[in-house]
Amino acid sequence: MEMNDKKKRQSMILYAIIALAAIFALNSILYPSIQSQTVTDVGYSTFLEMVDAGQVTQVSLDTDTSKITFTTGDGDSTKTYECNQFPNDTELVSRLESKGVTFSAEIADKSNSMWTYMLLAYGLPIGLLLLGGWLLNRQLKKSMGDDGPSMTFGGGGGMGGLGKSGAKVVAQTETGITFKDVAGQDEAKESLAEIVSFLENPGRYEEIGARLPRGALLVGPPGTGKTLLAKAVAGEAKVPFFSISGSEFVEMFVGRGAAKVRDLFKQANEKAPCIVFIDEIDTIGKRRDAGLSTNDEREQTLNQLLTEMDGFDNHKGIVVLGATNRPDTLDPALLRPGRFDRRVPVELPDLAGRNAILALHAHDVKMEGDIDLDVIARSTPGASGADLANIINEAALRAVRLGRQRVCQEDIQESVEVVIAGEKRKSTVLSEREKKVVAYHEIGHAIVAASQRGAAPVSKITIVPRTSGALGYTMQVEQDEHFLTTRKEAEDKLAVLCGGRAAEELIFHEMTTGAANDIEKATELARNMVTQYGMSDEFGMVALGQVQNRYLNSGATLTCSEGTAQKVDQAVQELVESAHKDALATLQAHQFKLHELARYLQKKETITGEEFMRIFTRDDGFAPQLPKTDEDAPQQD
Ligand code: ADP
Ligand code: MG
Ligand code: ZN
Repeated sequence: MEMNDKKKRQSMILYAIIALAAIFALNSILYPSIQSQTVTDVGYSTFLEMVDAGQVTQVSLDTDTSKITFTTGDGDSTKTYECNQFPNDTELVSRLESKGVTFSAEIADKSNSMWTYMLLAYGLPIGLLLLGGWLLNRQLKKSMGDDGPSMTFGGGGGMGGLGKSGAKVVAQTETGITFKDVAGQDEAKESLAEIVSFLENPGRYEEIGARLPRGALLVGPPGTGKTLLAKAVAGEAKVPFFSISGSEFVEMFVGRGAAKVRDLFKQANEKAPCIVFIDEIDTIGKRRDAGLSTNDEREQTLNQLLTEMDGFDNHKGIVVLGATNRPDTLDPALLRPGRFDRRVPVELPDLAGRNAILALHAHDVKMEGDIDLDVIARSTPGASGADLANIINEAALRAVRLGRQRVCQEDIQESVEVVIAGEKRKSTVLSEREKKVVAYHEIGHAIVAASQRGAAPVSKITIVPRTSGALGYTMQVEQDEHFLTTRKEAEDKLAVLCGGRAAEELIFHEMTTGAANDIEKATELARNMVTQYGMSDEFGMVALGQVQNRYLNSGATLTCSEGTAQKVDQAVQELVESAHKDALATLQAHQFKLHELARYLQKKETITGEEFMRIFTRDDGFAPQLPKTDEDAPQQD
């Protein structure tokens, strides 16, 4: 600290000197120019001529310096003249009197303005300078004496705090987060454990001559816990955590980003061992290409980052962690050994991972005793850690809203739907006719799903409109997780998606807009089957498309010729069409169940999977059936 103090004081003095010099330089340029602008030098004879001509209105005589200052005109048109050295003219006074000129023996006006000017030009800046220095000093003292949870570091550089580059990097001395706070992600934790042990004891690695990676890149979809993991590494190793987001680097002024990078590493060097975390690194680390539209600022920042990563002294124990969900766009130079050479995949959680994450977040919330989180985990395939945390929080909010003390199963179930489909929409009131159509549509999906062996069981069907725009939906929950999808399963899924529209056609002989979302999903699935999974007879195992980004669910682009693209469209259409026919056939076979279930749903608005299956499998199960004399036997309309 003492060292630091001395350095700071030195730089302050330097700063003051430079600032003072700048002020004097400015003034010595400005002051004469202002003077010459307003005051014109004239000879004594000219002065007398002007007095005689009656132009002069006011005169000041300074006998000490033998100087006459006089003005002509009045109001806006006053002009000031000066006449240095005048002869001892005894007639001057009477001459001035005869012309009615007011005169005085002191330089009143001008000296006054001169003092004001001097005060403004020199006094004010010096005053400000002193004030600034005092404030800065106080700030420094405060941040040094402070032992709070975080420290704010002024920027480095010779200019001290005021001239800093604007990098406000906050080092949390304790992130307070450990690996325990990250559920699932065991592989990621394992590969980061080595970094933790390195940070805990850099010397041990140095002794044996091992060089640890300088940087590791956390790669994965949004919300999977990349930021959380980085903090946990710092927390586990109990080292400071310097965090900055890539977007913070990219500012308006060229050069600022690079200065920030320099600052960041300078501070990290002082605090080592520590973690430097660059979130969303793709914003600065984008591939530099030879295209015309280059971004100078970004490139400078990236270059600086590359330089710093090469330059820092790794023996001290600085580890740079980066996080991104767009690793494909990163500049190769960032990924070469010695920089971000280690890649830690942070994937979407699997069933066990989702269970663990739900349990972790549920721990902070008061719950009823009989909560089954496994059901929730199974009904949320593809949900990220952030989604799951959100589901638990929404459930807690709902419990409060309903005036309960504890969260119950229904709260969580409902919040899953809120997260997936949006809030229930109270303002939308469907007419009876529309309700009927939606009921048939949803039961259509459910029946097609239930009549296939491979499809996930139906867990809930509802025709309560949602804010997302869905007028109803059928929820399917996988029994257990599977990672491969067979062609048959994919085709079954297509048929389920077509089930809604098929039911509308079969019963009402007309189409509605309600199937738009189904159509979109079916088309995407069919297209993937053809272009990526090699599941079409026509093309076989040829990749026809390229996935843009694995982590952001962006679609694939076709990489085939135009002629092939046309055939692809046709193959997609055939797949969907055949699924549509399948769905129609299935519903035809179960027409009476369709009627019965749709009516039941229309009446109850929401039914569970069990209710559905009880009615659907009653009597002769899956076989086509004739109307029974039973009391709830359906009647066709
Ligand atoms: P990312 O940086 O990958 O986009 P974050 O680390 O910011 O995601 O995660 C956002 C939030 O989601 C975290 O604060 C945490 O509450 C929750 N979360 C995400 N993944 C996990 C996980 N594996 N375990 C526990 N919580 C998680
Ligand atoms: Mg993040
Ligand atoms: Zn549908």
